[in-house]
Amino acid sequence: MLLNDRADAAAVDATVARIQETLVAPATIDGRIVYITASVGITLLEEGDERIEDVLSRADAAMYHAKGLGHARYAYFEQYMLNETTRRLALSSDLRSAVETDQFSVDYQPIVRLADGAIAGFEALVRWRKPSGEVYPAEFIPLAEEVGLIVPIGRFVIAEAARAVRRWQKQTGQRGLRMHVNLSVQELLEPDLEAYILGQLQRHELPADALTIEMTETAVMRGNALAFGRLAQLRSRGIPLCIDDFGTGYSSLRYVRDFSVDGIKIDRSFVESADGSLGSAPIVRMLIQLGEAYALDVVAEGVETAAQAAALHALDCRYAQGFHFYRPMSAAAISRLLDGQAVAG
Ligand code: C2E
Ligand code: CA
Ligand code: CA
Repeated sequence: MLLNDRADAAAVDATVARIQETLVAPATIDGRIVYITASVGITLLEEGDERIEDVLSRADAAMYHAKGLGHARYAYFEQYMLNETTRRLALSSDLRSAVETDQFSVDYQPIVRLADGAIAGFEALVRWRKPSGEVYPAEFIPLAEEVGLIVPIGRFVIAEAARAVRRWQKQTGQRGLRMHVNLSVQELLEPDLEAYILGQLQRHELPADALTIEMTETAVMRGNALAFGRLAQLRSRGIPLCIDDFGTGYSSLRYVRDFSVDGIKIDRSFVESADGSLGSAPIVRMLIQLGEAYALDVVAEGVETAAQAAALHALDCRYAQGFHFYRPMSAAAISRLLDGQAVAG
């Protein structure tokens, strides 16, 4: 959008506010309610601007910056944003070649039963080992989602995770061992996701509940009717759904009530504290009670100390995950660990 007659900041702010207010009202498309927000990048014409491309690339950099701030935000261009854009571009081209050259691997973090410390399952966590060093998911997952590469990456993780859990079930003789995999909304929107997951389960002769899908609350809420439908469809096939980072998004309680889920993960931010005690005991207690009331599996995340583990156990939390028990490890390390380790029956 080009504002060519009134380009002072106050007028621009007012225009942006008007655009965003207009978009707040939900739109109905094909009978479905769709919520739209706009991230706005703004640049003012500068002395010496000659090419429209330069102006647009500044606005573009500001828009990406605004996106990074969250939903429905706006930002005025500043020079450092161009560097962000350059970094993003470099990272996304690296990411593309990483998909082609198989630079991904999967680590697994055990989920333990608090009553006795036995391993009840695992969470699959993707790793990108770039030739120049490891890049953490927090850095590349959002980018992979944006450029569509999360789909092939996610498929790789699902395939590896299915193979691994089958191996560990055989190794331990425990067919109840579960594997959690993280899904992004983009993956859910692929029409053949269900077929792919069922195919992997079948290939490894796994029951449907061997793989549990983890989605963050924010991702679920941001998803549209199509995404909701896909999740429900997967659940109807017997594939459990667990809400990740529970308590950090909005509408969480309504979600538990309206849309049946099988488990919740209590976010690390409620568990951690500076002195290693259980950080937000009242909230944790409430979430555990919520889980009990709705017959959900409750997993506390980010347990780093014995004191936190004991406090969670005292509150009747059944499952936990965190550095106090195990760090995420390679598949080979898990196989070694499972030799001679108590596994939940
Ligand atoms: P998440 O699903 O909440 O995963 C838990 C994160 O907490 C992992 O970080 C794990 O290494 C870390 N963690 C576990 N125990 C502790 C602890 O005691 N203390 C602390 N400080 N951290 C702990 P990681 O592996 O860096 O993954 C970050 C996020 O990236 C994940 O958060 C998840 O949202 C996303 N992610 C990872 N793998 C995948 C994937 O295959 N697909 C998708 N879509 N997202 C993934
Ligand atoms: Ca997770
Ligand atoms: Ca989490």
